[in-house]
Amino acid sequence: MSRPYNFSAGPAALPEEVLQTAAAEMLDWHGSGMGVMEMSHRGKEFISIYEAAERDLRDLLAVPEQFKILFMQGGGLAENAIVPLNLSRGGAMDFVITGSWSQKSHKEASKYGQARVAASAQDAGFTQVPAASSWRLGGEAQYVHICSNETIHGVEFHELPDLKALGCTAPLVVDFSSHVCSRPVDWSRVGLAFGGAQKNLGPAGLTLVVVREDLLGHALAVCPSAFDYQLVAQNQSMYNTPPTYGIYIAGLTFQWLKRQGGIAAMEARNIAKAHLLYDYMDGSQLYINPVDKAVRSRMNVPFFLRADDGQPLLDPAHPRNAAFLDGAKAKGLLQLKGHKSVGGMRASIYNAMPIEGVQALVSYMREFERRA
Ligand SMILES: *Cc1c(COP(=O)(O)O)cnc(C)c1O
Repeated sequence: MSRPYNFSAGPAALPEEVLQTAAAEMLDWHGSGMGVMEMSHRGKEFISIYEAAERDLRDLLAVPEQFKILFMQGGGLAENAIVPLNLSRGGAMDFVITGSWSQKSHKEASKYGQARVAASAQDAGFTQVPAASSWRLGGEAQYVHICSNETIHGVEFHELPDLKALGCTAPLVVDFSSHVCSRPVDWSRVGLAFGGAQKNLGPAGLTLVVVREDLLGHALAVCPSAFDYQLVAQNQSMYNTPPTYGIYIAGLTFQWLKRQGGIAAMEARNIAKAHLLYDYMDGSQLYINPVDKAVRSRMNVPFFLRADDGQPLLDPAHPRNAAFLDGAKAKGLLQLKGHKSVGGMRASIYNAMPIEGVQALVSYMREFERRA
């Protein structure tokens, strides 16, 4: 019997093969007599899991040698503090605000230095990305922060900004939590990228940081040692006990991604999935996605049902929305409720969502529209 399709924004569905392997290895990993959760992080068994995960991710995302891959704890929100603790040098930082996540990053960073707003799409209801040529980048910024996929508002950068071409020499910091490994990354434009694992890689509790070596070693004196990128890098992410089980599951996900044909093949599938859903909505009378077509997210698709007067129905408890969600659940389409700050619905269609899941969603939406 196949499992329901799970559209959760995070923690999100994992590839079924990954869960099956983890289940089969739960009590005894590769004849070691131990489950992965029970192993010393310094033993040869776990070191081999860690090294394979690091190598596979480096291959998949074509991470250049001069970048360190760190496996940390604390999630995306902790990185909102850890990044300025390591990179701000107590100075100025420029933020491009394109939704809730970059807004949170900006707010947190202001504890550690002068966090400035280079551009904001708030007045447009976070349905756009301000053109890079309009960003107010101060020459002396220690870094420029963007969130390359806004999980809540469904806004994605389809190209990373080329700061050098804008006359800015500061490194670019990218929160790629919710689309990491869904598409290639142009590392020539990046200084540091971070992401919580629970959207597209594995369980909550693991945070991935990819950082250019020249950015290490500048942490503020108050930076907790366990969050000092230099110390973490020098100790192969084992300055303190890393989230071992999360690294193992992410490693299984990386192996799965390789079997799927790697990131380019994954990207092609993600494009096809997103097209299917957006094209259907754009042609329908009932569903609306308010995001500028040029920056719609391939991973997170917020949408609203219209009321009889054509207005979007924000309140998920509204009878029409509740009927949509109940009917979806009955068809095995789970966790489609929108984020509480936006309302309506949201379909998250990460790597682990097969095209069949999106087809099932669209056919349910079509049926619901016919009945509405
Ligand atoms: C989920 C998410 C976060 C927050 O992650 P936590 O693990 O809850 O701290 C940060 N940024 C983005 C873009 C996210 O999607």
